[in-house]
Amino acid sequence: VSELIDLGLITDDQAGPSSGGRPARALAFRAHAGHTLVADLHATHMTVGVSDLAGTVAAHAQESVDIDAGPDTVMPQLMALGDSLIADLQGRTGGLCAIGVSIPLPVEKHTGRPVAPTSFHGWDGYDIRGTLQQRYAAPVWVDNDVNALALGEWRYGASRGQQDVITVKVGTGIGAATISDGRLHRGAQGTAGYIGHIHVSDDPRLVCGCGRTGCLEAMASGMAIARDAELAARTGRSEHLRAALEARTHLTAHDVGSAAARGDQVSAELLTQSARQVGTVLAALVNICNPSLVVLGGGVPESGDGYLATIRETVYRFSLPLATRHLQIQRARLGPLGGLRGAAVMALDHLFSGDGLPWPAFAPGNPASQTAPQPGTPSLTYTTPGGLA
Ligand SMILES: [Zn+2]
Repeated sequence: VSELIDLGLITDDQAGPSSGGRPARALAFRAHAGHTLVADLHATHMTVGVSDLAGTVAAHAQESVDIDAGPDTVMPQLMALGDSLIADLQGRTGGLCAIGVSIPLPVEKHTGRPVAPTSFHGWDGYDIRGTLQQRYAAPVWVDNDVNALALGEWRYGASRGQQDVITVKVGTGIGAATISDGRLHRGAQGTAGYIGHIHVSDDPRLVCGCGRTGCLEAMASGMAIARDAELAARTGRSEHLRAALEARTHLTAHDVGSAAARGDQVSAELLTQSARQVGTVLAALVNICNPSLVVLGGGVPESGDGYLATIRETVYRFSLPLATRHLQIQRARLGPLGGLRGAAVMALDHLFSGDGLPWPAFAPGNPASQTAPQPGTPSLTYTTPGGLA
């Protein structure tokens, strides 16, 4: 406690009631003693934000970006956005303490480097952590987008308070993250949960971004749904999709959801097919991990209630009855900020872990450690048992 007070992270609040011995001492966490920079990268856009030390996102901004253009294009754009958000804080918080990045690529957990990305160019082995550390002189943590989403939903959203959760993201790609016994399971290298590249079909025409054929992602992802929808439009199988393709030159899973909502049978079938395939792989995962909750995130499940219903039906049909007796399957709750909030959780959890303290931003002489407590600053209050301090 003394160390945390010296670091400016907690401060004495009003004294607590005495239970006979030494009175309890109330301590307030100074969430504004510092801030984080967080980024959530997607295939075609990025969201960058700043959060306080309690993980509350103070400001964020979104920009279009082509992640396939590689880090030399994407990283300067990320840092320019970060610089402007930090400048907008105008010293209202302490210094930058940590950086969290969520990226839709496999990330080697010890180095934070993407490894052999399946879909995007220029990222293999790229030193995201080094690039950001050099620019901002703050510790950096990087993880894949599904792990970040799982952490965000776990701390603030649908899976709050649960100990065994599988979070599945069905968007441009497909991935899963498992929280087992209250811990995010990353595996030996950090690739645990990469269900998108499980082999599910012998059809050689289903070429995946990873270079193989027959992966779940090549059959059921948003990209696969869009591909099949464009084929249906061109071959005249769906009037709705043909009209949408003519108006927009390409289709997305969102267009397929809209067409299905307007009664297009072909679109409804494409979504049902995707939900069944994802549900079948998910059932295997449920059999392995025995979660109490499955959280479904990403753009494709937003296409309509039918998607979630088909996933539920498939998982219940193909999982062990004991595993599904109390199993809940729900949509993610945090919406488009889920990954960003998860990136903040990742950075702050590392920062406040035993290994993280003390960290550079709070080293003696750093302005962050000299910020005076601000009256009226929102804070979380923890009470230590009497006599501890
Ligand atoms: Zn693949």
